[in-house]
This record gives sequence, structure tokens and C-alpha cells, in this order.
Amino acid sequence: MRCNACWREVEGRAISTTCGHLLCTDDANKILSNDGACPICDQVLSKSLMKPVDVNPNDEWVNMAMAGVSPQILMKSAYRSVMFYMGQKELEIQFKMNKIVAQCRQKCETMQEKFTEKLEQVHTAYQKMAKKCQMMQQEIESITKDNQELQEKFAEKSRQKRKLDEMYDQLRNEYDSVKRFAIQPANNFYARNEHDLFSNPPNIMDDREMGRKGNPSLSTVRAQRILLFYCH
Ligand SMILES: [Zn+2]
Ligand SMILES: [Zn+2]
Repeated sequence: MRCNACWREVEGRAISTTCGHLLCTDDANKILSNDGACPICDQVLSKSLMKPVDVNPNDEWVNMAMAGVSPQILMKSAYRSVMFYMGQKELEIQFKMNKIVAQCRQKCETMQEKFTEKLEQVHTAYQKMAKKCQMMQQEIESITKDNQELQEKFAEKSRQKRKLDEMYDQLRNEYDSVKRFAIQPANNFYARNEHDLFSNPPNIMDDREMGRKGNPSLSTVRAQRILLFYCH
């Protein structure tokens, strides 16, 4: 049996009340010195409504307490005592249940607090990641734009290079043709002189005079000038 106020195990002397509850002597005295209210049902108690009982009676009490009482009264008393005992057991179970429920509720509250804390941490981390992703997305867009611009520039430069290559090839061809043109008249110049030497004697002196003075023909000078221009 347990005290209905402090729920400690009661041994020996205890106090039973008319409202059907059991108290240890310490709690019974406290209740009487305070407001006198039963801790379970709030019924106002007084000394006359509280009866001392021995929860572990000795053999002498067991043998003699009910001696001389009629079986009807004995059975009625036994019935009341059993009902009281059952009521106490129900109260104990209820107390234990309430204790377990309170512990579970406390654990749930602690877990909920931890869960909320973790959830907030996860939410904060998620927000950070989302912001980072957004920044990275913007960075990717910027890089893609730069890449596109560079590709366009590269295509433009490639076009310019092709154009320059074509111009270079054209100039090269012109240079080669000019070079060939510049060399050919010089050979012809001496060949023509050799020919003139025999075919037209009066002109020999004039041509030789020109050769000695170092005056080449007009076409040779022009070809040399064009050659120098392209070389520079
Ligand atoms: Zn007590
Ligand atoms: Zn009570």
C-alpha cells in the first residue's frame, strides 16, 4: 500500500480517510495543519474523518480484531475493506500511468525541441545552399554569355584571318609574277643587245654607251621599284 499524497510505500501505521484514501502519518498531519483538503479528491478532512490503521497487522490483531462481530457485519466490513484495497490499487495504477505519461510527454517535448532545432539548422543550411546555387547559376549565365561573346569574337577574327590569308596569297602571287617579270626583261635586254650587235651596227655604240653608264631600260627600273616596294 502507498500513501496517496507522497506515494511512498506505507509500512505499519497509516491513516485511512472516509473519502476512501490512504495517507502516511506525516502527510496526514501536514494536511490537518494546513487547509485539511484531501490531496486526491479535495474533500475537507478532519480528525474524525481520518482513522488510523495498521497495514501490516500482527497475528494478535488478525486473531482478535474481529472477534465477537457477527458474520454479516464481518462480511460487510470485509467487502468495504476489499473495495478500499481495490480502489487503492486503481489509484496506484493511475499514478504510475500518469508518471509514465508525464515522462513520455517530457521526452516528446525534449525530442520536439531537438527536432525543431535540427529542422531550423537544416532550413538555414538549405537557405544558404539555395542562395549559393542561385549565385552559381548567375555565374554560369555570366560565363555562358562571356563564352558566347568570345566565340563570336573568335569567328570574327577567323574571318579576318581568312581574308588576310587571301590577301597574302594574292600579294604573294603578284610578288612572284613581278619577280618573274623583273628577271625576264633583264635576260631579254642582253639577248636583244647581242642580236642588235649584228643586225643593226649603227645602234651598237648607243646601247653600249648606255650599258657602260649603267642606265638600264625603263621596264627593268620599274620592275625593280615594284620589287622593292613589296619587299619592304
Ligand atoms: Zn505520505
Ligand atoms: Zn479523498
